[in-house]
Amino acid sequence: MSAAGGPSLLMRAAELGRGLVSYPSLERAQWLSPERVQALQWQRLQQTIEQAAAHSPLYRQRFAALGIQPRDIRSLDDFRKLPITTREDLRAPDGLLADNFPRNQLRESMTSGSTGRRTTSYFDERAWVHAKYLVKLRARRACGLQPWHKVALFQEDGGTALEAPAGKRTHTFSIHRPIAEILPGAQRFAAEAYYGFPGYFVRLAEAAQGSLRPRMIFTSGELLDPFTRRAIEDGFKAPVFDVYGCTEVKEVAWECPAHAGHHLNADWILFEVDPPGDAGKVLLTPLYNRAMPLLRYQVGDTGMLLSERCPCGRGLPLIRPTLGRSVDYLQLPDGNMLPPYTLTCAVEAVEGMRQYQFVQTEPRRIELRIVPGADFGAESEAALRNALAPVLPGVDVGIELVPTIAAEPSGKYRIVKTLVEAPGPAR
Ligand SMILES: [Zn+2]
Repeated sequence: MSAAGGPSLLMRAAELGRGLVSYPSLERAQWLSPERVQALQWQRLQQTIEQAAAHSPLYRQRFAALGIQPRDIRSLDDFRKLPITTREDLRAPDGLLADNFPRNQLRESMTSGSTGRRTTSYFDERAWVHAKYLVKLRARRACGLQPWHKVALFQEDGGTALEAPAGKRTHTFSIHRPIAEILPGAQRFAAEAYYGFPGYFVRLAEAAQGSLRPRMIFTSGELLDPFTRRAIEDGFKAPVFDVYGCTEVKEVAWECPAHAGHHLNADWILFEVDPPGDAGKVLLTPLYNRAMPLLRYQVGDTGMLLSERCPCGRGLPLIRPTLGRSVDYLQLPDGNMLPPYTLTCAVEAVEGMRQYQFVQTEPRRIELRIVPGADFGAESEAALRNALAPVLPGVDVGIELVPTIAAEPSGKYRIVKTLVEAPGPAR
């Protein structure tokens, strides 16, 4: 927290108490029919629009400019005519902050800045309890996490201690320390659940050689391709559940044990794809944060809404998020923008790679860097070239075997990245 202060302890305790009382209805909502989830969503969307138009200067202005009132928005189609909120708008948070919440009682959350300048999002205390605890609790419980399970977080910040203090159930290990240093402490802590970036877990599993036995692994923050998922699951002999979220909205969607897609928290978030249809830019409207309403926020990811229902029976719809942060799209010589997912799918079936990374070094050249396994041979290379030729027309593909693949300064791995300046989809 900054000098702003944030809510008092009493306020925090009161909201947490209120949140826990309301939790059973959140738990039940995931099993409602899709129609009832939609009805809930629509009701909350109307409240969110009203709050934004009445109390947030930016939206008040936009509604005035359009000459409309919240009551003129009678359907999702009407809602989709509202302008998009961009990251640029977030750089001037005063325009977004609702005037009926004192700023010194808000919680703050800052983006890491790995994809540009940092931005800060603000949450009222109820929204914070909802987003940071209750929504996550629902999703983790669905995957089998129990209150008595120990949780190890492998992340950028928040911890340098190599050893978890006695009696603690949650511990953070810094991903910026060498794995050999944190391994003994992680072994002794013996957490049931792990949280972290997929690329990091590939390396951790490899270094651990079976000495770490989590029961479940939650990943987020990077594109999780099927190849990486398999490497983590094989390495730890435990299932991977991917979670999709962002600093501004917090958790958006999560995998249940059926792994049919990511369940959107649709009772509390409106997810749109722009342009409507298949894959497109993700627009999010969180329906719980009254302190800083966001309508149609373009978060910088791409994704798609799936039409299938999950076999688990939950009414929360399925999405496929993060076909790639749009900066990871590659512009091909023919002008097409290639989603990273296309590349990872193309090489998925090829055996013998322990880790890999596609780097577009020039407009017509892509280097595939591979950390080879023992069974990587000439036929693997031929299989890769065959798989890539159809998706990379006119591109010269170089295959390079390397001992390791370095993470970005943020600690994240980029499976597909480009060094070529391209206009790319707007962020
Ligand atoms: Zn499901």
